[in-house]
Amino acid sequence: MSTPKMKPNFIKDIIDDDMKTDKYGGRVHTRFPPEPNGYLHIGHAKSICLNFGLAKEYNGLCNLRFDDTNPETEEMEYVESIKDDVRWLGFDWEDRLYHASDYFEQLYEYAVQLVKKGKAYVCDLSMDQIREYRGTLTEPGKESPYRNRSIEESLDLLERMKAGEFEEGARVLRAKIDMAHPNVLMRDPTLYRIRKKDHYRTGGEWCIYPTYDFTHCLSDSIEGITHSICTLEFENNRPLYDWILDELGVHHPQQIEFARLNLSHTIMSKRRLLELVEEGLVSGWDDPRMPTLSGLRRRGYTPESIRNFCDEIGVAKANSIVDIVMLENSIREELNKTTPRVMAVLRPLKVVIINYPEDKEEELEAVNNPEDPSMGTRKVPFSRVLYIEQDDFREEPPKKFFRLAPGREVRLRYAYFVKCVDVIKDEKTGEILELHCTYDPATRGGDAPDGRKVKSTMHWVSAKEAVEAEVRLYDYLFTKRDASEVEEGKDFKSNLNPNSLATLTSCMLEPSLKDAKPGSRFQFERLGYFCVDTVDSTPDKLVFNRTVTLRDPWEKIRKQIEREK
Ligand code: ATP
Ligand code: MG
Repeated sequence: MSTPKMKPNFIKDIIDDDMKTDKYGGRVHTRFPPEPNGYLHIGHAKSICLNFGLAKEYNGLCNLRFDDTNPETEEMEYVESIKDDVRWLGFDWEDRLYHASDYFEQLYEYAVQLVKKGKAYVCDLSMDQIREYRGTLTEPGKESPYRNRSIEESLDLLERMKAGEFEEGARVLRAKIDMAHPNVLMRDPTLYRIRKKDHYRTGGEWCIYPTYDFTHCLSDSIEGITHSICTLEFENNRPLYDWILDELGVHHPQQIEFARLNLSHTIMSKRRLLELVEEGLVSGWDDPRMPTLSGLRRRGYTPESIRNFCDEIGVAKANSIVDIVMLENSIREELNKTTPRVMAVLRPLKVVIINYPEDKEEELEAVNNPEDPSMGTRKVPFSRVLYIEQDDFREEPPKKFFRLAPGREVRLRYAYFVKCVDVIKDEKTGEILELHCTYDPATRGGDAPDGRKVKSTMHWVSAKEAVEAEVRLYDYLFTKRDASEVEEGKDFKSNLNPNSLATLTSCMLEPSLKDAKPGSRFQFERLGYFCVDTVDSTPDKLVFNRTVTLRDPWEKIRKQIEREK
């Protein structure tokens, strides 16, 4: 994989300094630590590119670790999808695939050590009471009446918690730090809780589970991670991680926080994405409208385009929303260079060339990609009956409409000049059934010898050889730029775009697409970039997804702004 060097960022500055001071003996060891409770999304891709990218840049290592301490939400299906997605993005954890659940025994040992040091205790307060005792941002908390029970008693209770003697919620293990600490997370946080649930990997072996905070910092430590990179929300957790690691006297990675990726017109919370899946509001985690990597892949995105996007947006310390147009631009740019161009008519209107012989057929030469002559040419058939886009004809053309109209001549790409001479309608409904045109044989594949001009070149498909297909057009999943901004009393689903999917069922494609393989990508001339759906397409019934439209909708406006600067 050829990844260009990562752009400068503040994390690289920190690592550069650590290299100079030999902080970790010149080592860089990062990890990507997903919780297997959903599919990965584009926000995770940013973290993957960053962690694996830094390791690569500093000749270091990056682990894939499943942070799997919650038996309620984690599943093997998610584990497999996460591995697939990381590999697909182009990264390799080699033999370093780890699970926090593999450390359960060791984490328990650490908990026992803290109790023995007088730094943790078993607390019998209920969840509600613990919350009540915690205090607020402005008021200190109250000490639990169990805080000063003897080390022996806590040890005994912890062992009995582990043995399953108590009900869920009856007791927890807490760190003994400071109930008046200005940081609420330091007010004797919970380290272990009772959960009588089977875990997807350890089954019924455990009935107490370590909290995320206790597990996360120690898993990093166990793996010898040097730079523990996480999103900004964890800044407040850092003092707790420091406390745990220092009290236990174990290897202490440096935590560095960066701003999570937020993308306009979509959401990044796995919990909410799961809600869309479970309520059938999308077809699944891999619905092409989803911001998941499996959705983007099915939509036609390439790993390169996603890596380029992640590099382009960079790494910052302040949260913001990145416009989804940037993601679209990164795939558009790539597909412009790499995809063959073909002709497809999405909403067909029949055209009969009345002066073209009934039994005649020609093969015309078409260029596969004018950006890349090495992609060559192909033959497209031309005959008396064709299809053009309904949108390319107006019976009463408004000003500035230069495409086909009664009495008007246009160019059919790679073929001839044609002129509309008659409009055939359904007598009852007035609906346009077909157009009658004449063609000028002297204009084959080029201009008119007499120098007359046409104002428009249109795509078309020969009816006889046309391949019928279904084409799915996608719009943003949410109508609001900030999709999480919700009106009072409503929930985030009220921002869903009711028109995010349009399915066109009788599209007509040029015959070269007949054997198009699932996942293959094309530019449909004048319409955008499309790929063959990997789930629903069959050799008998092709299904295409529109990956992205041809032009950035903001391009014009952006150029104008540049000019005015
Ligand atoms: P979500 O909020 O979607 O549930 P999460 O943070 O709970 O995400 P994890 O599985 O814990 O999901 O995430 C794995 C890693 O990916 C973490 O290190 C996290 O910091 C990072 N990550 C998650 N979301 C984003 C994002 N939007 N931008 C950058 N990194 C992210
Ligand atoms: Mg998380």
